[in-house]
Amino acid sequence: MSGWRLSCPLKLRSRSTTEGNTMKAKLLCPDCGAELIWKKSKFGGFYGCEMWSETGCGGAVGVHPGTRNPLGIPAPKNVRALRVRCHDGFDRLWKNGGKMSRKEAYQWLQEKMELDGSKAHIAMFDEAQCLKLLSLLEV
Ligand SMILES: [Zn+2]
Repeated sequence: MSGWRLSCPLKLRSRSTTEGNTMKAKLLCPDCGAELIWKKSKFGGFYGCEMWSETGCGGAVGVHPGTRNPLGIPAPKNVRALRVRCHDGFDRLWKNGGKMSRKEAYQWLQEKMELDGSKAHIAMFDEAQCLKLLSLLEV
């Protein structure tokens, strides 16, 4: 059992919502709501918006390297950018001589965001959660 299976929030979520159902949950485009389809680029595979060739919609979600398992929960571009800022700020708490250990930092995150461990992942945050965390981090 490799580690990401346990830590991938989308995997856990889709498993619990599709219990008794062998159909794989559809991934929807975070930008326009169309279906995301499997695509390949020179950087590897990813899920991209099926409307891309018609509307130019750039909605996409990455995957765990070497798999077709989506990375986090699809989000519009602005939320993806906010998540990057959250991660930068959050990492500063514990990386490179930050004031907390990694474990403490995640505990802090759970407490401040009032989330339990399985949901306290920045990759799952929506816009409001990102903004809340950024204000907590004062970045
Ligand atoms: Zn789209």
